[in-house]
Amino acid sequence: MNGTDLVVLVSYPCGDGPGGAPEAPSPVRYFPGGCPDDEPDGWPGPLDYDGPHSLTVCPACVASWLDDHLVGYPVPATTVTAPAAP
Ligand SMILES: [Zn+2]
Repeated sequence: MNGTDLVVLVSYPCGDGPGGAPEAPSPVRYFPGGCPDDEPDGWPGPLDYDGPHSLTVCPACVASWLDDHLVGYPVPATTVTAPAAP
């Protein structure tokens, strides 16, 4: 990620994360012009890019994310610090 990338903080509603535990918010790449069909530059591992709208957020798919996630406003990636591991 670089300073021009946008991210949204995404989390599961409290108690609804994997294993039933609350999940800390994590930054997800946000694409104002739509999620790319191919893996974007600087894609971080270890997850493979699984196609548009799967692991990224854009205006077209944010509504579907909101069905089962909490999604924050887009902010520059450089302003987000991933939560520290417990
Ligand atoms: Zn999308």
